[in-house]
Amino acid sequence: MDNGSLFFTYVFCALLVLTLVVRTVLASRQTRYVARHRDAVPAAFAATIGLDAHQKAAAYTLARLRFGLLESSWETVLLLGWTLLGGLHLLNQTLLTWLGLGLLQQLALLGAFGLIGTVLNLPFSAWNTFRLEARFGFNRITPALWWADLVKGLLVGALIGLPMAALVLWLMGAAGPRWWLWAWAVWMGFNLVLMVIYPTLIAPLFNRFQPLDDEAIKTRVSALMQRCGFAAQGLFVMDGSRRSAHANAYFTGFGAAKRVVFFDTLLQQLSPPEIDAVLAHELGHYRRRHIAQRMVLMAAVSLIGFALLGWLSQQAWFYTGLGVQPALDAPNDALALLLFLLFVPLPAYFLSPLMAQLSRRHEFEADAYAATQTNGQDLASALLKLYKDNASTLTPDPVYARFYYSHPPAHERIGRLQGASA
Ligand SMILES: [Zn+2]
Repeated sequence: MDNGSLFFTYVFCALLVLTLVVRTVLASRQTRYVARHRDAVPAAFAATIGLDAHQKAAAYTLARLRFGLLESSWETVLLLGWTLLGGLHLLNQTLLTWLGLGLLQQLALLGAFGLIGTVLNLPFSAWNTFRLEARFGFNRITPALWWADLVKGLLVGALIGLPMAALVLWLMGAAGPRWWLWAWAVWMGFNLVLMVIYPTLIAPLFNRFQPLDDEAIKTRVSALMQRCGFAAQGLFVMDGSRRSAHANAYFTGFGAAKRVVFFDTLLQQLSPPEIDAVLAHELGHYRRRHIAQRMVLMAAVSLIGFALLGWLSQQAWFYTGLGVQPALDAPNDALALLLFLLFVPLPAYFLSPLMAQLSRRHEFEADAYAATQTNGQDLASALLKLYKDNASTLTPDPVYARFYYSHPPAHERIGRLQGASA
């Protein structure tokens, strides 16, 4: 191996060790913090959350942390297996022997990598659903539906992903040294299309979405949506209870495809004023243009990503440093894409606190909006019900929450709402 390759191997290993160390330190901080606060409900919540619920949340949080560490160890093994231990090289060579050089071989490499990755991840996915979630009473999915979801997901992924991959591979070969700029433009267009077809065409393959049918709630909700300038047919109820007892609500899509989705499990738990408040929070994401902001940020980040890929794909050490021998007389585009997808999550992990911070700011903004349109106390009590029913811990480690949490910790969020309405 030449010096450049060896140096890159060291960088890769150093990043790998560093992410593992940070992950483990953060997880053990969170473990200790949650365990230490297990025996007493925080004073601010003592009136609404019982000790039983608090201890269930602690047990669930600790079990999820343990599972997460196991999962990330397995991912590290897989990453090393694909790269330095020669898995990707072997797969590439095997497909070359079978299919020869060409676009078909490259697409087969991407497809096979995706399929093998999915299969190697199945035990964890199954354990998560049928052991962990089931143990805490959250699982509702049957094995038959679980398998159906898996097959459907793979088919939809292939149907959408393979043409997109073929287009990018073609650009890499045919569009000259600035191919990455074209590929980025295609990627952005693809994401815009996905944002329209995901809520209207793809999500309905997995769940039923129905307009709200409770007349009493509908009247209140329509008035609120009108007040907030949102199309009245934009609220849907999803049959989340088919898979899990976890409750949620979200805002998705844009233009004519924009919609607020309530899980049926959420509607069952909330009073009409609380439903209003949660809806107002979701409409706050719409009014404050959070999806558009996310898209702009994603555009900037992916432009940097594609430029980096354009450069890395030209460097021999990028391949050899990660355990792959590139072909000297043929394009290595699919290899470059896969190595990039394997490598980039390592440095990107250290950017996740920035994304989490932005997301938490958006949550505060949406809460503040909800408090102007509805009663902040109703949102606070709805959130508390959600924390309780999802067994989310009320006592996260502050550092862990800062690094990972996409939503502000309970005491901050509810504290602000109560401050705003007091
Ligand atoms: Zn939100």
